[in-house]
Amino acid sequence: MATQLLDFEHVAVEDAIARDLPFRAWPVPLRLAAAGEAARRGGGELLAHSLLGAAISALAVLIDVANGIGTEGLRLRGLIVMPAFLLAAALAHIIPPRWRMSAYALPMAAFAASSVLLGNFAAPTIAEGYVSGAALSVGVIALFLPLRTLDLLCAEAISCAAMLIAYLSHHPLSELRAPGLTIFMVIACFALSPLAARINRFKDRNFLLALRTRLAQEELLAANDALRKMSECDALTGLANRRSFERIFDESFNASLDAGLPVAVLMIDIDRFKRFNDDYGHQAGDECIRAVAQVIGREAEAAGSIAARYGGEEFIVVAPSAAGGAALHLSERIRARVSELAIAVKHDEAATVSVGVTVSIGIAVGAPRTVRRKDLIEHADQALYAAKHAGRNRVAMHARPAAADRVAKTPRLGDLRGAGGNA
Ligand code: GH3
Ligand code: MG
Ligand code: MG
Repeated sequence: MATQLLDFEHVAVEDAIARDLPFRAWPVPLRLAAAGEAARRGGGELLAHSLLGAAISALAVLIDVANGIGTEGLRLRGLIVMPAFLLAAALAHIIPPRWRMSAYALPMAAFAASSVLLGNFAAPTIAEGYVSGAALSVGVIALFLPLRTLDLLCAEAISCAAMLIAYLSHHPLSELRAPGLTIFMVIACFALSPLAARINRFKDRNFLLALRTRLAQEELLAANDALRKMSECDALTGLANRRSFERIFDESFNASLDAGLPVAVLMIDIDRFKRFNDDYGHQAGDECIRAVAQVIGREAEAAGSIAARYGGEEFIVVAPSAAGGAALHLSERIRARVSELAIAVKHDEAATVSVGVTVSIGIAVGAPRTVRRKDLIEHADQALYAAKHAGRNRVAMHARPAAADRVAKTPRLGDLRGAGGNA
């Protein structure tokens, strides 16, 4: 509910609360939100009220029996009133909201009119009790119906009309010597309407206050989310930063451990980047880092891997469940795509030229059961060092099987395989 209203901000809600606006003066989206909420609750409420109505009608039969009109009571209430309430209960969840008022009003009218009719069968002293009791019931029951004030008045009017018809059908107007009961009937039906309207105002205010709280909560959650994203993202490249990489790597490592699959780590470093900075300036250097990061991010994502900026001009990619072949393939793609980049840099004040850039990549692959997390990164770093040493713009894989890690932790250069590249 609140999400749809976020554009609205708090302004409309605050305004409605501060000015204690009545429902009809609320802005349309607010009223729609309230109507939506009422519609969502409406089915359950109608069901509960209708079942309660049926139960009260059943209890009323006991009063009829006590008053010597049990047979008539059973017939009228059992054949008309209770089925009306039960029908409303059965249809509660499928009745469209605009028919809900009728679903409340008709069984209530049947209850009131049948009580008046039953009064006709009873002794005159009891008859008055039935008529006034029915009218008072309508007035009191209406207080509890979850309807807007206008709908409530309609429901009361329908019940009142039904009672009057039932009453006058037995007491033609011409014979009415004391119209007091008729007047009482009308007054009793509507007497509590101002109170019902007041209750509705309280409910509306409650809705606004609850909405304000929910909006504030959602804004807080959104702000928290934005903060979390900011704290996990590298500002220059938009990739995950090193801190969030540690978490992602832990998760990938554990997932691979559970699945019994290997995990690959790619350590990527831009070649001779210091010279790039020196030649073209720090800003061009930043552009270069961004362009390289974009390639790495795109290729990693396509391969189902996660890339992060590890620091300066270094990047790291973790490829969960990747064996050596897949890691090598991904690395080669990254290396090739980066080498195709043409980064626009200022040659002098007037001219702009495009320059190329390359990366070297070190790969380490290991099965989490046999290799330690920290060793995997160290091995990727060693492989990167080997790639640099072998001439840069190339991929090197740490060749020592992960299972043997504990035997020899530091690979010799001969253990590292070069792949691709053209120094
Ligand atoms: P190698 O091929 O061996 O990696 O050589 P290199 O010059 O890339 O290596 P080195 O680590 O000596 O230089 C890295 C440079 O990256 C040094 C630093 O000025 C630059 N650098 C680090 N972070 C940033 C950054 O955020 N923006 C820019 N423009 N430069 C950065
Ligand atoms: Mg470098
Ligand atoms: Mg470096």
